[in-house]
Amino acid sequence: MAMREVGKLTMRSRRLQVRGKDKHSLRWQDRTTILFSPSSLSLRRYSTLSAADTTATADIFEGLTKNKKAYTAIYKRDARPPVVILGSGWAGFQLARDLNKAKFDVTVISDRNHFLFTPLLPSTTVGTLEFRTIQEPVRTIPGIKFYQALATRLNFEERLVACEEYYLKERFEVNYEYLILAVGSTTNTFNVPGVCPDNHVYFLKQLSDARAIRSRIIECFERASYPDLPSAAQARLLSFLVVGGGPTSVEFASELYDFLKKDVHILYPDLEHMVSVTLIEASDHILGSFDRQLVDYVGRVFQERHVRVLTDTSVEKVEPNVAWLKDGTPLHFGLCVWSTGVKATPLVQALPPSFPKGPGGRLLIDGRLRLYGHEQKGVFAVGDCAISETRPLPCLAQVAQQQAKYLGGVLNKYSEPHVNKEVPPFEYRHLGSMAQLGMWKGVVDSAKLDDKKGDQDGKKSVLTGWTAFLLWRAAYWTKSVSWANKILIPMYWLKSWIFGRDISRF
Ligand SMILES: Cc1cc2nc3c(=O)[nH]c(=O)nc-3n(C[C@H](O)[C@H](O)[C@H](O)COP(=O)(O)OP(=O)(O)OC[C@H]3O[C@@H](n4cnc5c(N)ncnc54)[C@H](O)[C@@H]3O)c2cc1C
Repeated sequence: MAMREVGKLTMRSRRLQVRGKDKHSLRWQDRTTILFSPSSLSLRRYSTLSAADTTATADIFEGLTKNKKAYTAIYKRDARPPVVILGSGWAGFQLARDLNKAKFDVTVISDRNHFLFTPLLPSTTVGTLEFRTIQEPVRTIPGIKFYQALATRLNFEERLVACEEYYLKERFEVNYEYLILAVGSTTNTFNVPGVCPDNHVYFLKQLSDARAIRSRIIECFERASYPDLPSAAQARLLSFLVVGGGPTSVEFASELYDFLKKDVHILYPDLEHMVSVTLIEASDHILGSFDRQLVDYVGRVFQERHVRVLTDTSVEKVEPNVAWLKDGTPLHFGLCVWSTGVKATPLVQALPPSFPKGPGGRLLIDGRLRLYGHEQKGVFAVGDCAISETRPLPCLAQVAQQQAKYLGGVLNKYSEPHVNKEVPPFEYRHLGSMAQLGMWKGVVDSAKLDDKKGDQDGKKSVLTGWTAFLLWRAAYWTKSVSWANKILIPMYWLKSWIFGRDISRF
């Protein structure tokens, strides 16, 4: 191991630097000095140092305080270029797994300490699956550093990411050689007033949302079963409203129906006839991107199930337990799930106009996933937060995952991948769309994205019924990440099929 010149510790008004210390003196002398320095560092924070690699080419620990509260994560520039990934979703998690840790010093920063398998999220809202079966902790990825924090500001000139701790909201900074933005998106409420949990309106994006929805559904049934409750109040509590007609809404409404048919029927037999489910869609049909034949099929299935579908209808405002439609009609509800599409996260929204945005406020990227207009900066954007100018792709897990796999391959293989002209462009392969409708029904649309009418030889690329349902289950079972979940998921499917769902609320 190379010995380094012994330098001196200097403390300036706003910046503290340790220069040229060898590894051992840094560990024992400088640590103590820094710990008792007037800066705001605490032992806990300083512990980030121990993660620094020891094969340093230049020992530069720098940063620290900008003010009393903020601090800079201390880093050591080592032989491996630091790669910082923002986000632990489909794109971030995949990339963190794929990057060669011998080549890169990989840090993942995300306010969520787990990866969420979103296609199965609606199944957890009624207990078909348990929450823990559809997540994977980020720290299970070997050889990475992880900080549970929110990236709040990006400094592209100095290659720094400013972050805010998830728990104490303290600030720190991390430097990078390559930065990958994989921060996803947030639910778009279209600024409709009153869309908040206080009014019993819930999003369906995170596990915490699914848990809140499940609690509220059970609360509605328990409260509706009290003696002497007027039937109007019972009906209000048992009215479930789903705003948005995309696949997430359709799958949630289907899970709810499954729960009503199989479990409510047994557990709350007196209430079953009072339950109503309404789905509201602003355009003229649900499942916007799916083949028209499948849209009609789902319409028929919902009609048979007495799930009311209101198309060409939009919600103008929400008050506690009531949604007001544009034509002034009030729709009372016990629970409302809001899933009307996505928009850019605050981090992306806050970027200056020099970073051009596409539809939905998504960052414009070029064919090699580099930030448009800033191709030389070593910054890439993948997944929901980015959109290509030449081939705009929808916000889908398969897009995010394929982009991450491509980028992982490029970073592992090419030197200076942001400027290297040999790097091939990203190519997307659409694997089809599917949705499950509960009760052994589903729809699969395997048409290519730009050929929605079916394939060239005239064969229909759609599938409905139980084969589509089984295909849906098989596809997502295969794609789930760990063996633990691959074992647990079918067990819970079987359990809820044979023994029913768990309705305990705690
Ligand atoms: C209920 C549901 C069902 C879905 N079903 C399907 C499906 O069946 N098929 C399909 O293809 N797609 C589906 N999708 C869409 C799919 O989940 C998204 O397209 C995909 O998650 C996008 O991946 P991503 O990595 O870009 O973002 P995400 O997976 O959303 O991950 C973003 C990550 O960034 C983190 N983050 C956000 N802001 C910051 C910040 N400032 N600093 C640090 N971290 C930050 C978040 O905590 C999160 O970890 C579904 C989505 C939902 C919500």
